[in-house]
Amino acid sequence: MKNIAILCSGGDVSGMNPAIKHFVEYAYARGLTPYFIYDGYEGLIENRIEKATYQDVAGIINRGGTKIGSARSKRFTQKEFRAIAKQNLDTHNIDMLVVLGGDGSFRGLDVFYKEHGIKFCGIPSTIDNDISGTEYCLGVDTALNIIKNSIDALRDTAASFSRAFVIETMGRDCGYLALISALTSGAELCLIPEVDYNLKDFEEKFKRQRAQGRKYFIAIVSEGIKQDPREIAQWFEESIGIESRVTILGHVQRGGNPTTYDRLMAYKFVSHAINGLLGDKTNSVICCTKSGFAFKSIEEVAGVKHRLDTELISCLEML
Ligand code: ADP
Repeated sequence: MKNIAILCSGGDVSGMNPAIKHFVEYAYARGLTPYFIYDGYEGLIENRIEKATYQDVAGIINRGGTKIGSARSKRFTQKEFRAIAKQNLDTHNIDMLVVLGGDGSFRGLDVFYKEHGIKFCGIPSTIDNDISGTEYCLGVDTALNIIKNSIDALRDTAASFSRAFVIETMGRDCGYLALISALTSGAELCLIPEVDYNLKDFEEKFKRQRAQGRKYFIAIVSEGIKQDPREIAQWFEESIGIESRVTILGHVQRGGNPTTYDRLMAYKFVSHAINGLLGDKTNSVICCTKSGFAFKSIEEVAGVKHRLDTELISCLEML
């Protein structure tokens, strides 16, 4: 029997556990023996590698995070530690890896493949949805649903108390979470790093709406914008004349019960990854494209700067 392992690297997302569960079940179904590598590349260097059983993945499909842990590893960027990682894989006869992570993780694996011939398939996993070459990254839908529920709750209190709420979402330099959340939560304002703005441009419209009876405002701002959300709240108070509050959603966006969509995507990503490794795919990332799933090279994924869909950005004007 051939051996295949899975690990999580970089930021965790909700959807990793369903992926781990399907990995074990599908590996056995395809005649492979599945292994877990705990705590990312650190665990690979430390030889925290264990054979996976059906029992290990019982009852995890509804849980956020990752049962096998995730980590960043400075040591994996050094050749001598990658050599130790290769020795550890050899002791378990593992020559195929499925990696849930971001473009940094895939770049590391590509170096590893070129040095030691360990085949891998990357599965894009980040709530930021900022990986080039794929329309979707595991965990995004769950994060969006958590944001949606939070905004709905904040709207209740905003309306009752006649306040403006400035709500900060994650996303690093990518405004995807903020933009989709604004469009699907009826926000009045959305600020993202990809689009320059001047708060003055909104003053006349918002003051007019206040005069016409608007009781509250919802502003969604991405963490990557140039201003602190408290400055936006201050602007609401001073320029629009409405009491305001700031809510930074933070890490709640990364956890929670995986949505149906993320469970399904986990299933599809993993099936394609294992099929690819059993076929002719040696060092690729399985991407979700407008025309279906496709294997892409590291250069196409990690070598290209991510750009937010311009059609989506243009929706901002309609808020
Ligand atoms: P992400 O996968 O979310 O983009 P990072 O960029 O932090 O996260 O990368 C995750 C891990 O991948 C790093 O901690 C490091 O161990 C490994 N890695 C990233 N780039 C390289 C590289 N060029 N060579 C070797 N390992 C790398």
